[in-house]
Amino acid sequence: KVLVVGSANADLVVAVDRRPGGGETVLGADTVVLPGGKGANTAVAAAKLGASVALLGAVGDDQYGALLRESLRGAGVRAELVRTADRPTGIAYITVTPDGENSIVVSPGANAQVSSSDVDAAVEALRGARVLVCSLEVPVASVEHAVALAAEAGVRPLVNLSPVAELSARTLAALDPLVVNEHEAGWLLGEPDPADDAVTLAGRLLELGPRSVVITLGARGAVVATADGAHRVAAPSVRAVDTTGAGDAFAGALAVRLAEGDGLAEAAGYAARVAATSVTRNGAQPSYPSTDEVVA
Ligand code: ADP
Repeated sequence: KVLVVGSANADLVVAVDRRPGGGETVLGADTVVLPGGKGANTAVAAAKLGASVALLGAVGDDQYGALLRESLRGAGVRAELVRTADRPTGIAYITVTPDGENSIVVSPGANAQVSSSDVDAAVEALRGARVLVCSLEVPVASVEHAVALAAEAGVRPLVNLSPVAELSARTLAALDPLVVNEHEAGWLLGEPDPADDAVTLAGRLLELGPRSVVITLGARGAVVATADGAHRVAAPSVRAVDTTGAGDAFAGALAVRLAEGDGLAEAAGYAARVAATSVTRNGAQPSYPSTDEVVA
């Protein structure tokens, strides 16, 4: 059983030839509206793999909230802990240029109302989970509270530090694992462009206190590190079409396998296969595979 604490956003995606500068207007293609947000993505990825998954989060009383609830329902994510808040559903405004690069503005809306009291109200669900997965498009204080309750209850806490945020030493010390991409690893170490190789970086992150570390490396796979040492995890070679939500797919799959009792390296190997499958298809949630679609 997996409990996800995190965001639910509508992704409003528009293709443009180039990004507008300040004061400038450019015309784009038709807007594509997709269910997204790191929390909802992670929950959908985990549920599509057949796990029992609940999301704790918030949406607004609007069309985008309905879109997200429908997507969660379709994937089999339990949504009784998704509160309807009195702010609009979170929205990610995404422009995509022909080179495939995204630039994104996130308006958190209802996600900003995910509170420590919501976490307290969900304490039974939390205690009943094997793994807690959090990401940071909801307030850090709520995530830290959830991690503290999980650690107390013997539930394994995993934080995907995306977007980056400062965590207390106490929170870091509970994480098993801390999951970051290379950019987030650099931020944590105070080096925007770290010169060290990923295995060394993972060892240095471990010194910040978490029980284990995973660094995702895009097409190069991932590195996992525990007190026993660091190992590389291979990424299957695939033709990437759209990498949106790959990190969320990785986190969701990792949580599922950890909840089933896999070791960290084994779970990360499976997560890399799930994430690689997701990049061969468009979108985030619609691109996530079921167990029999995961590439070998
Ligand atoms: P984020 O999306 O959070 O920046 P990454 O880019 O590191 O994270 O991607 C997360 C994971 O997705 C990687 O560890 C890898 O397993 C998988 N992945 C991403 N891009 C590719 C790719 N081009 N080919 C194969 N796997 C990929």
